[in-house]
Amino acid sequence: MDRSAASFRACKGGATEARSVVTRRTTLSGAAGLAALASTHSGFAQAAAENDLTMEKNGTMDIKRNGSRPSGKGPEAWFTGTVRVDPMFQVGDPLRLSGGQVTFEPGGRTMWHTHPLGQTLIVTSGLGWVQCAGGPIEEIRPGDVVWFPPGEKHWHGATATTAMTHVAVTESLNGKNVDWMEMVSDEQYHK
Ligand code: MN
Repeated sequence: MDRSAASFRACKGGATEARSVVTRRTTLSGAAGLAALASTHSGFAQAAAENDLTMEKNGTMDIKRNGSRPSGKGPEAWFTGTVRVDPMFQVGDPLRLSGGQVTFEPGGRTMWHTHPLGQTLIVTSGLGWVQCAGGPIEEIRPGDVVWFPPGEKHWHGATATTAMTHVAVTESLNGKNVDWMEMVSDEQYHK
């Protein structure tokens, strides 16, 4: 209760702050417009200022276009079966977040592995299995979001009969975001 109230206040505070910044900019451009133009044209000056702001923001935006990063085959050292990896984003120092879309054909799965800062999986299609060492195999479906804590040994993949695609979001620690281990054996891979 207290936590949700605090986060609501934080959101409200953020929105208020953003509005006041816009108001200050609008006031400044409005004043400049009045000096240079008749007062009836100040709205035009404001619109021009807002366009400037949009251009400024677009100058820092990075759009990775569909088709600019070829699909790759999941390496046999890391995966069992047929796996396709579509890179989504990878950002360098000081940002350390990377994202990729991984498609496992039926029977396809990762090796056992850990992530130094954990990992989030967002299932986008099909039907999959995930397992943490010592735990049960869990079935995952589109819309499910899975979190593995730092250092938690686990694997993820398709079911034996249905393909699965997920987006994997992973943070790097000292340039590394995964430690690969042994294969998930056929005995381990069944539900
Ligand atoms: Mn993982």
